[in-house]
Amino acid sequence: MNFRTAKKDIYARARKTMVEEQLVPRGITQKEVLDAMLTVPRHLFVDPGLRGQAYSDFPLPIGDGQTISQPFMVAYMTEKLRLTGTEKVLEIGTGSGYQAAVLSHLAAQVFSVERIPAIAAKARKLLDKLHYSNVVIKVGDGTLGWPEYAPYDAIIVTAAAPEVPPPYMEQLAEGGRLVIPVGGEFMQDLVRITKKKGAIVRESLGGCRFVKLVGKYGWPE
Ligand code: SAH
Repeated sequence: MNFRTAKKDIYARARKTMVEEQLVPRGITQKEVLDAMLTVPRHLFVDPGLRGQAYSDFPLPIGDGQTISQPFMVAYMTEKLRLTGTEKVLEIGTGSGYQAAVLSHLAAQVFSVERIPAIAAKARKLLDKLHYSNVVIKVGDGTLGWPEYAPYDAIIVTAAAPEVPPPYMEQLAEGGRLVIPVGGEFMQDLVRITKKKGAIVRESLGGCRFVKLVGKYGWPE
């Protein structure tokens, strides 16, 4: 075994430990979600100096004051979207591109919006290199959603807003699920909103802490 294969093996084992110790004990059960978490090379989505911590139970900095979410949070939010493989998904806050990569295993198409051009460019480059070809990224204010490709079967927002931006409700398909952290600057409630025959069902999924969603319907610059 050469050095590179040995390294690869170490990360594959780290992913398995992450799934067994962080995800399964906390109730993640959807096989496709666990499989995606076992597959996506999370260590490549963080700075080389942080690779050794990529599979640990916490978020990590990705530059510009932004973070890649804790593995459990990625798995939890993904599971709550109830994806079956056929969906069109909108993600707000591309960041490292890790969440988008996980989603790409579970949905037909992923549309992701990132506000900071340099962050979006880096994610695009990596997702191309890893052949995640069903992920489309655009730079812009994600509080406006992405009207051109609406409606979406699922919308996932990986930055926190004071209130649910109204465009998401308009761009959510009938039967669609929106998962978003809503609340104050430092603590939020993770919320799932389901559109059912025109009615809106809102469920609380627990406390969380995300970076700010900055934009027209989010926090001011
Ligand atoms: N999902 C990411 C983590 C996101 S961190 C991952 O897997 O790595 C939150 C991201 O949301 C940051 O990159 C931040 O720049 C972005 N963001 C904040 N406000 C935004 C907005 N209005 N539109 C799009 N992206 C936004």
